[in-house]
Amino acid sequence: MLLYLRTFITLTALVLAGTAPALTAHPGSPCPILDASQPQQRQVLMSHVCFHAAAPDDPAHLANTPAELPESIEWQDAGGHDLVFSHTDSVYWVHLHLTNSGNKRGLWYLKLNYPLLDDVTFWQDGDSTSTTMATGDQRPFLSRGIDYRYFLLPVTLDSGENQSITLRIRSSGALNVPLSLETPGTVIAESNHLTLTHGLFYGALLVFAVFNLLLFFSSGTVYYFHNAFYMASMGLFLFAMGGFANQYFWPDSTGFANTSIPLLIALCALAMTLFGRSFLEIEPDTLSASTLRALAWSSVGLLIITFLLPYNKSILFNTFLVLTVIASLFVIGILRWRQGYGPALWYVMAWSVMLVGALIYALAAFGYLTDFLAREFFMLTAIGAQVILLNYALVQRWRLLNQKLLNVEHNARAELETKVHERTAQLRNTMGELERANRKLATMSLNDALTGLYNRRHLDNMLPELCAEARRTGHPLTLTLIDADHFKDVNDTWGHGFGDQCLQRIADILSRHVKRPRDVAIRFGGEEFALLLPGTDQEGAYRVCQRILEDMRNTAIPADDGTHVTITLSAGVALLAPDENEQTLFQRADEALYQAKASGRDQIATVKVPVVD
Ligand code: GH3
Ligand code: MG
Ligand code: MG
Repeated sequence: MLLYLRTFITLTALVLAGTAPALTAHPGSPCPILDASQPQQRQVLMSHVCFHAAAPDDPAHLANTPAELPESIEWQDAGGHDLVFSHTDSVYWVHLHLTNSGNKRGLWYLKLNYPLLDDVTFWQDGDSTSTTMATGDQRPFLSRGIDYRYFLLPVTLDSGENQSITLRIRSSGALNVPLSLETPGTVIAESNHLTLTHGLFYGALLVFAVFNLLLFFSSGTVYYFHNAFYMASMGLFLFAMGGFANQYFWPDSTGFANTSIPLLIALCALAMTLFGRSFLEIEPDTLSASTLRALAWSSVGLLIITFLLPYNKSILFNTFLVLTVIASLFVIGILRWRQGYGPALWYVMAWSVMLVGALIYALAAFGYLTDFLAREFFMLTAIGAQVILLNYALVQRWRLLNQKLLNVEHNARAELETKVHERTAQLRNTMGELERANRKLATMSLNDALTGLYNRRHLDNMLPELCAEARRTGHPLTLTLIDADHFKDVNDTWGHGFGDQCLQRIADILSRHVKRPRDVAIRFGGEEFALLLPGTDQEGAYRVCQRILEDMRNTAIPADDGTHVTITLSAGVALLAPDENEQTLFQRADEALYQAKASGRDQIATVKVPVVD
């Protein structure tokens, strides 16, 4: 971490000073000998390094060993700067003289801090030794001698020994030759710090990816899968860029080391596009949707073509594609945010960081960012921040979805409550109507339709009840049967309609005279009526009948032919005898009526109360 910081500070200072590291050549200047035992001299290693860039037409291009180099070769002084050349087909020869002025034998490592070089050959010519190491990512990883992602060349110098180190480098990718000479202790310490940092970074990325994959399996929501896919491909890309993939994943697949980088770039482009499309909820049939569809298919196309094209072509195409994808998603994210889609804000923020990452990548690709460690540090920071922001964006999206669900549930509940209220009110109304209808039905069933008096059913209900009550209480109860006299003649003479009118008048008169609350007037047959008078004795009933007959006698009912018709009534009164039942009471009242008829009509007859033994 400290190392990263140191690099970061150096780089910031460089950027602030506006001096991008540039190569200054000093043709013909001899490279000073570096005293490896002097830490200050090791610090300025690049001031002791000479190089020669051999273009394809240069005889040095064809030389396979330092011995084959032409005498006239012109060495250039690196001038204290790292050697950085973007994509080139030149062969680079690098030369360095070392000595050990210390009084004991020492071991140092010449470290080439860039893991992605195709061919690197080291020649060490010491006072007594001469060794060669041919390595590079076009050879099996084991050719590096030391199992480390960078190229490490052990340099052992006896006290006072001189050694000449020559490097021949060729690469189809960006050609960076950041060299340093370090003690074994420093190499181990640096390696430890970096291992921890990388372990944390890739571990976190892996956990995020697996977690998103689990979320996808449990929820079926596709953008979790796309996010996992994106993080996995991005992690793999950084892993390959950092030289780890060569070391751990395909140490023996020499051809794949170069192909893997553009391949993973295309895979990242595809993952970014798919994730962006599902996360931003792009409506189909929009310009954004067709753009993303085109980018997704282009990614798939380039993924396949990468296997066929040479590295320097595919890296160019795929880098262009991924930069287009990043820029498009950035613009589409802003559009979605402006359309009011909340989680897009976090997505845009994550993508802003991604733009920074892409810028660093571009700077490195064009040779402006020479320090491999600084570049890696920036990339890891940018991608790490982006991954965190993207996952936060997912949480925001989940929250929004949850809120929507809660709203739907709330609305559904409110709607249900309103419906229940409505239905309850409807039910109450219906029940009210039903009750009124029932009451009407009950009234209808107990009343006579023509006269409005109670009917035969009511008489049948009431008579036993009133008899029982009278027997219980000892209060009198009279039953009077009334019959219209010669009513058949009325019907025959003036018609049935007029007869009905007369019946209604009779009912009016009965109602008028039967006034006590518990008195009941009943029409129980055609022109036959009954009076039930609880609490009224025989004399009382007789008097009521007298008034009724009197009234009837004095009522003239006008018929259609102008005749004023007078109707008379006959009545039979019976008082309930002790222990008498309703049938015998009715029989006795009927007998009394018969007597009244027989005695000439328009009169009242009573029957004696039977003597109880
Ligand atoms: P009386 O009782 O004096 O012996 O003679 P009446 O003519 O009244 O004798 P009866 O009881 O035999 O005849 C009853 C008549 O009442 C028969 C029928 O024409 C008439 N009547 C019965 N029900 C109705 C009714 O609902 N409307 C009309 N208009 N007439 C009815
Ligand atoms: Mg009659
Ligand atoms: Mg009759």
